[in-house]
Amino acid sequence: MIRPFEKPIYVTRPFLPPFEEFCRGLEEIWDSRWLTNNGPVLQRFTQELCGFLDTDNICLFNNGTLALQIALQGMGISGEVITTPFTFVATTHALFWNKIRPVFVDIEPDTYTIDPEKVESAITPWTSAILAVHVYGNPCNLEALADIAERHKLRLIYDAAHAFGVKVDNKPISRFGDLSMFSFHSTKLFHSIEGGMLVFREAGLKGLFDYLKNFGFKNEVEVVMPGTNAKMNEVQALMGIQVLKYLDETIGRRARISELYRKKLGEIPGIRLALPPSPGVQYNYAYLPIEVDEKEFGMSRDGLYEKLKEWNVHTRRYFYPLICDYPCYRCIPVNGSLAVARRAADRILTLPIYDGLALSEVETICDIITALHLGSGHEAASFASEVEAGKLS
Ligand SMILES: *Cc1c(COP(=O)(O)O)cnc(C)c1O
Repeated sequence: MIRPFEKPIYVTRPFLPPFEEFCRGLEEIWDSRWLTNNGPVLQRFTQELCGFLDTDNICLFNNGTLALQIALQGMGISGEVITTPFTFVATTHALFWNKIRPVFVDIEPDTYTIDPEKVESAITPWTSAILAVHVYGNPCNLEALADIAERHKLRLIYDAAHAFGVKVDNKPISRFGDLSMFSFHSTKLFHSIEGGMLVFREAGLKGLFDYLKNFGFKNEVEVVMPGTNAKMNEVQALMGIQVLKYLDETIGRRARISELYRKKLGEIPGIRLALPPSPGVQYNYAYLPIEVDEKEFGMSRDGLYEKLKEWNVHTRRYFYPLICDYPCYRCIPVNGSLAVARRAADRILTLPIYDGLALSEVETICDIITALHLGSGHEAASFASEVEAGKLS
């Protein structure tokens, strides 16, 4: 007999360092009374990330969205940018805030990342850049995109919000393209409560980004450009430093969770794990996406999403709907088919994965999905409603 979870199981929970450890760090901040504006903790965090990513060209921000907006502004991107509709809405918002026109093209079926062939056919005289997304931490088709960018003199920008810790041929994923944006939001694998980072090829961009995130101040009396306020503060940086220490461990535990899902879900008809093991790629196991085939599984993706809630399992449809289907972006004409992206948006469900999710809980989640496949969902529904009614507690 499978019982619904007593406490809700969410798609993610942030990793937190030991409380005492964080308090010791806070004491230093209290002593210095330096809370933001490039303080000592931020400087230390920056150094550690430079070591981790093996580059000096990084800049930290208070979130990933502002980091991306500033990247586009600082690099002087304008006109049209070719991008994917299968992403979090901030990817496109960052373009809009810079008055850049997003041009949506389709994705590849296995990695859910932008399809290089479609990129190439969407290039016009107004195209200035490609903004690609490493969806779920799956690297984009790096070589093909680099080749297109070089041949057409386009900037290649990656939204790597999902991809912290991912390596390709032993190189950090940030080594590819002109620039990568990372998000350190609490829902991400690696976080600083909120936070963002740019990693870039040209060292000269650093000074520009530093101005843009701090009102354009050069010194007390000189403002050299109309910047904004996007600085990371000391408490964010402290969290980042402490979470970074545990990154390898947390990725290891997530890998074991992912492995168990793969084993258990692999046996269910109509469920496909959307994590293609690819040679040379070291994953971060940030997400656990599955694709639901309604006919084979016996229930639609949305049906499964709703049913799992009755068992107290709260999954997410990353990414549904497509960006081009949001009311605020429907006015953008889409030329060419987005068939692969639409199919993914209709079928994808991301299951719970986080440090602290017990393997026994993963087993139960998989057993519930199996039970739903076998059509014993009704039993669960009545069980869940009794729990809700407080009869079973
Ligand atoms: C989270 C996320 C962002 C935005 O990052 P914030 O730090 O939350 O502003 C952008 N793009 C993608 C793909 C994301 O998942």
